[in-house]
Amino acid sequence: KLQGKVALVTGSTSGIGLAIARAMAAEGASLMINGFGDRDEIESIRSGLEEAAGAPALYDAADLGDCEAIEAMVRRCAHELHAPDILVNNAGIQFVSPVTEFPTDKWEAILRVNLTAVFHTTRLTLPAMRERGWGRIINTASAHSMVASPNKSAYVAAKHGVAGFTKTVALEAARDGVTVNCISPGYVWTQLVEKQIPDTMKARGLTREQVMNDVLLAAQPTKRFVTVDEVASLALYLASDGAASITGANLSMDGGWTAA
Ligand code: NAD
Repeated sequence: KLQGKVALVTGSTSGIGLAIARAMAAEGASLMINGFGDRDEIESIRSGLEEAAGAPALYDAADLGDCEAIEAMVRRCAHELHAPDILVNNAGIQFVSPVTEFPTDKWEAILRVNLTAVFHTTRLTLPAMRERGWGRIINTASAHSMVASPNKSAYVAAKHGVAGFTKTVALEAARDGVTVNCISPGYVWTQLVEKQIPDTMKARGLTREQVMNDVLLAAQPTKRFVTVDEVASLALYLASDGAASITGANLSMDGGWTAA
């Protein structure tokens, strides 16, 4: 269903972004993936996408903290595939610290990657979507675009910013066939989360189950992690023609977290 479409997915070498890239490849989309990681692993991801899609998949190593690298990535996508029909702004980083001790360089990095990069990719890809009269911009926000947790000031500020930016661009593009939305997951089962478990078990003297239920899933009423495939299926739906009237929305997928 996405045959002939080009999807640019940032932060797609692991976790949620990779699941979104795979879901779009399975529908036949051409892809440009991006993110950090082991070169051999990334090459095997890239070639797997190409095979699944029966369409080209490119990898670009752009650091999303770097405006010039973003410009080069978008230019390359336009030259080697075509200008993106679907833009998924998914790359994101986290750092946890009380605000008074928050390292200023970490603050800057989180704002750059999680928020400013979304501005750059959007301003660079929207003109071609408008010209074509069709486009989809899908931003991975977070439950933290709606509610806060202590010690996550930069992340929460950036994700609230993504939600506001999404609504603004949705209004600006509303008559152009371009929808702009964000997906706000709660805790998603990714390597990032898995890695926190042993340390927290040790630090607090808890069992694996206690860490999962009482620490990580404390705010998530379902007591179950969201899966990357669940997030990908919503992204796929937002990319479909059936979702043409959904724009400016911030869609929760958080097991009831923000209902409480
Ligand atoms: P992840 O760490 O598995 O994936 C992050 C991706 O971003 C990786 O591909 C990484 O290489 C890339 N990346 C990081 N910094 C980058 C940079 N400077 N330039 C380019 N790429 C960069 O994490 P994930 O859990 O899949 O997170 C994906 C998105 O989902 C993030 O925006 C995150 O904030 C959001 N999110 C995650 C959860 C969760 O519980 N895992 C919950 C809500 C929202």
